[in-house]
Amino acid sequence: MLDDQLKTPVVYLKGVGPQRAKLLEEEVGIKTYADLINYFPFRYVDRTQFYKIKALQNSTAEVQIVGVITEVRMLAQKRGKRLVASFEDKTGQMELVWFKRYKWIRDNLKINVPYVIYGKVKYFNGQYSMVHPEMEFLEDFKKDFSVKLQPVYSSTEKLNKSNLGSRFFNRILKQLFAELKSPFEETLPQNIIQELKLTSPSKAYFNIHFPQSNAHLAKAQFRLKWEEFFFIQLQLVRKNLFHKHKIKSYKFEQIGNFFNKFYNEILPFKLTNAQKKVLKQIRSDLGRTAHMNRLLQGDVGSGKTIVGFMSMLIAIDNGYQTCMMAPTEILAQQHYQTIAEYCEQLGVTISLLTGSSTTKQRRDIHQNLKNGSLHILVGTHALIEDKVKFHNLGFAIIDEQHRFGVAQRAKLWKKNDLPPNVLVMTATPIPRTLAMSLYGDLDISVIDELPPGRKSVKTVHRYDANRLKVFQFIKQQIAKGRQVYVVYPLIEESANFDYKDLMDGYESISREFPKPQYQISIVYGKMKPEDKAAEMQRFVNGETQIMVATTVIEVGVNIPNASVMVIESAERFGLSQLHQLRGRVGRGAEQSYCILMTSHKLSEDAKTRLQTMTQTNDGFQIAEVDLKLRGPGDLMGTQQSGLLNLKIADVVKDKSILESARHYAIRILKKDPNLENAEHQTLKEKFIRLTQHKFKWNYIS
Ligand code: ADP
Ligand code: MG
Repeated sequence: MLDDQLKTPVVYLKGVGPQRAKLLEEEVGIKTYADLINYFPFRYVDRTQFYKIKALQNSTAEVQIVGVITEVRMLAQKRGKRLVASFEDKTGQMELVWFKRYKWIRDNLKINVPYVIYGKVKYFNGQYSMVHPEMEFLEDFKKDFSVKLQPVYSSTEKLNKSNLGSRFFNRILKQLFAELKSPFEETLPQNIIQELKLTSPSKAYFNIHFPQSNAHLAKAQFRLKWEEFFFIQLQLVRKNLFHKHKIKSYKFEQIGNFFNKFYNEILPFKLTNAQKKVLKQIRSDLGRTAHMNRLLQGDVGSGKTIVGFMSMLIAIDNGYQTCMMAPTEILAQQHYQTIAEYCEQLGVTISLLTGSSTTKQRRDIHQNLKNGSLHILVGTHALIEDKVKFHNLGFAIIDEQHRFGVAQRAKLWKKNDLPPNVLVMTATPIPRTLAMSLYGDLDISVIDELPPGRKSVKTVHRYDANRLKVFQFIKQQIAKGRQVYVVYPLIEESANFDYKDLMDGYESISREFPKPQYQISIVYGKMKPEDKAAEMQRFVNGETQIMVATTVIEVGVNIPNASVMVIESAERFGLSQLHQLRGRVGRGAEQSYCILMTSHKLSEDAKTRLQTMTQTNDGFQIAEVDLKLRGPGDLMGTQQSGLLNLKIADVVKDKSILESARHYAIRILKKDPNLENAEHQTLKEKFIRLTQHKFKWNYIS
């Protein structure tokens, strides 16, 4: 069987041998025939286009020319020698040059026999030349099936040094295909193949390595990309359906007094339509026994917290406890304060549990949790410690998803007989396609509308040289009663360098804004939590006008009177971080401003980031640009997913293929959730093979 043959170690392939096999494994992880076949080229050079020498231009692009060598000569130069050949076609003449291996080359070059040469040309001393061209006899070129679109394989320094570049891969793959004893098995159902006009796997694999034309290549790429997405989506969609059908959680049938009283008498504003829509989705989830596993996305300030709180009230109305977990102490405190005010008016009990809770506080919390008298527990990671035991945790909110790992989420589940319903809230907008790949197993809700009357933040870019004007502006704002953030980058909490930036900044601001007229708060990561909270509180109370901080204030902090966000060394921040920081202002009725300070030295990417920030306030648009600039692999939280280690498909460029694959995965699993139909058997086998290491078919956690 082909499958068995594909397990053969590459060392047995003619032209590989032990040394090369070792290099292949160490450098690019290729161990077997299957690995080699799945080592796809990352680009192709079109070798159907030929240049005439007369039409050459001095560019960095690689060109291909047909001609003959008329003369070869060895030239001595200061250091070493070089071999120069005159190369002609009917339109003109140029030089080919070698600095290395020239003896062997000189002995093997044929005069007046047509060659195809390939490489970059340089214009020098009135003459075009090509250094170390790739070359082949025209006759061989014509015979060779592989050369029309020449695949380029990614390589490493070590591989290159040992001459294991694209040509080597080309050669051993040719050998491999020659050795294959049977065609690749078709695993996709016939109806999909017909509807999408998919090429067969054998053709796809062959043409990805040896494309016979652009059309063949396109078909091969489509099939392989589609298939790659499809099996991932099959896994995610199955997980999602499994969740809905198999995992039970507590069902909250009634909307009771707490919810109604809050909605009718306490809620200080009208919900936006987007908030209403999401609340409806959550209510409908919570009214079923199926476990809720929902991601709530919404830009900073879109009003997620109130939606989360009202969802909690539904749980409490049904006699269950709830919790809300935040990534930082400051944020947990802030959530607690916002919510506690409402709770008091409602007669709902609430406590805060963080790293700095005292032993006595903890003891009370533990007791009230166990006897069921505590309705809401807000806190940090401290919530998932084993000591924390609920009487009946029915609903959990996790704020800022990407900071908690999957394992931590799972810990919450162990707190009762049934897992609590889970709502994950994130202010990091994730482009739809990425969300599909990352969180395809979650249901997704989006608040895509800001509360009314909110003025969008005016964003400007200023160079360090204009600092005095910026200070002037800050003074005007403070004179109007506003408050100001000044944020410094902090790549690593412990890096002394960053700390020094912050302290230098703090000093210069203290000089510019002297006491007693001005009061300044400072908050950074290394401070003790209680000092941090105290400084924060002074700013919240309006006792200080300026908050100098590192990115610890990034998430969630809500101070409506703060109207200016100055971001120092803004070029050092990523787009999503800049957007998060900007979200700290613009929460009150006043016009707010974001000032991005940078030096004059800016990379192209940094320029794009700054431009994007000054042009738009739309988090989703910003996320799209971010995804394009950084690629999915670098986005926060995606590294851990593993789902994005794609071999050939690309979540950014191949959006429509991803959508198609997801559509079919849903269609198949809705009809045949366990892939029991005869037509799905080969599919199921492959699916199990692909996923057996990750989870068992019958239980997906
Ligand atoms: P998020 O958590 O999405 O960043 P918040 O829930 O903190 O946003 O809301 C930001 C601010 O907007 C809060 O002061 C909140 O009270 C207020 N807010 C939320 N929803 C509305 C609404 N529908 N109308 C007016 N203000 C709202
Ligand atoms: Mg929030």
